[in-house]
Amino acid sequence: MIYKKRSAPLEIEGLITLGRRISKEHPIRSDMMKRLYNLQAGYSGEKQYDRYMTEFKPAYPHAILHDICLKEDNIYFQMDSLLITPSRIVITEVKNLAEKIIVKTKPLQFIKEMQTGERVPFRSPITELDRKVYLLRLWLSRRRIDIPIEGIVTFAYNNELHFEEDPPVDLIFTYEIAAYLRNLILEREILDKQTIHKLANEIVNAHQPYDPFPLSERYSLNHAEILPGVQCPSCHLLSMRWERRRWRCLPCGQIGRNEHRSAVQEWFFIKKDTITNQEFRDFTLLDNRHTAKLLLAGIPQLKMVGKSKGSFYRIK
Ligand SMILES: [Zn+2]
Repeated sequence: MIYKKRSAPLEIEGLITLGRRISKEHPIRSDMMKRLYNLQAGYSGEKQYDRYMTEFKPAYPHAILHDICLKEDNIYFQMDSLLITPSRIVITEVKNLAEKIIVKTKPLQFIKEMQTGERVPFRSPITELDRKVYLLRLWLSRRRIDIPIEGIVTFAYNNELHFEEDPPVDLIFTYEIAAYLRNLILEREILDKQTIHKLANEIVNAHQPYDPFPLSERYSLNHAEILPGVQCPSCHLLSMRWERRRWRCLPCGQIGRNEHRSAVQEWFFIKKDTITNQEFRDFTLLDNRHTAKLLLAGIPQLKMVGKSKGSFYRIK
């Protein structure tokens, strides 16, 4: 049974938004786009993994949890997928890289081979897994659970894996996951059905979603570098202006009433988790403070904190 599903990282939406609000030549753009590409590729690989996992329906009690981040002794560790069975726990690290991958042992090294033939080493997913297994073991021992934990790395099918020797952890293709797990040999039962259920719920409750916002802090962007304006849903320019009680796109003529809501969401992604009437007007290029007050009051997800001059809005 699936105890936690995966959802798209909000950072993807945040970065797309930020890309529209910095100048084309901005020096952070290439870093940002690389990060966006990696997040999108990672997420699509993980979704593929989740699809293959739906074919895994064992008869024994079990729990499946996707994308879990726990904190142990102030250290965060994120697991792409977790399977709890009666006799062991399996952590999966899902990799979705575009290149050919060569795995060397002694010393263990992961190398990407680009289309140009250039070879670049990358961080070993096995080392990452070892760390997660170690931290999860500590996390469980605090809860008086002692159960073998193992890790597995899955790669996208187009990866063309080349092993020079057998690696110390199983590396398989994502599409093989259900068959791989079906072949797991379960020895003695350590966790019964009820304990698995309880543990899975405890993990879901302890999950700490990663908060990448505000992005201006991460990329050290100052106020002047972020372009204001309300984005047109049709032509995607920051070109909507409030006139005659509606938003109108100057270049394409698109009309709307609620486009400022997305602008406020973008503000929270990029700037900070509160917004004042003045900040809202500067960001949406609106000049009337009363109109601004009405528009802000009409956003159901927002609540006003404080009174008159010192007041601001935040998400409920
Ligand atoms: Zn437009």
